[in-house]
Amino acid sequence: MYFQRKRSVWLLFFIMFYVYGCSTSPTFKPVTPPQQTPLKKAKPHICSQLDRYYVRDWKYIVIHHSATSSGSAASFDKSHRNKGWENGLGYHFVIGNGNGSADGQIEIGNRWVNQIDGAHAGVKEYNHYGIGVCLVGNFNESHPTPAQMNSLSVLIEYLQERCNISSANIITHKYFRDTECPGKNFPYYKVLARGVRW
Ligand SMILES: [Zn+2]
Repeated sequence: MYFQRKRSVWLLFFIMFYVYGCSTSPTFKPVTPPQQTPLKKAKPHICSQLDRYYVRDWKYIVIHHSATSSGSAASFDKSHRNKGWENGLGYHFVIGNGNGSADGQIEIGNRWVNQIDGAHAGVKEYNHYGIGVCLVGNFNESHPTPAQMNSLSVLIEYLQERCNISSANIITHKYFRDTECPGKNFPYYKVLARGVRW
């Protein structure tokens, strides 16, 4: 009897220790951050459009300015045909500045649709393997518009991914040719700072 009581006292003591002892010690519950579904970046319309085309082996993206204050794929196509170029527009893409085509509008040239060499570089290697992108404007006198730069960034990101082009091969015309193209005001460093793989 005495033994049983002693045992129940110990049991009570143990329970009290357990209840109070534990409750006074701080409890650390792992904090789970609220579940956030990653924001889905809306795929720009131009990318869905470009997904339709088959692509061949491209190595470079070559950036140009038109050295004119206005223009569009159609107007450059006309002037290039006047030079006797049977495939017309020498660039694969033209990005408008609001004069002649909408500000930031990306126009897809015939040479991209048909995956044929450009006529923009003046060097065979870069005409064959280089995707020619022309921004409308003379960037020795003015600057590309923010909309043009945004579109250029979207286009470069897309082409880099799709054609597996390294960042070192995003180049301007004057990189390999004695020309001022794409003009002294073209912010090449900004292009390099904005792409997905930089
Ligand atoms: Zn050029």
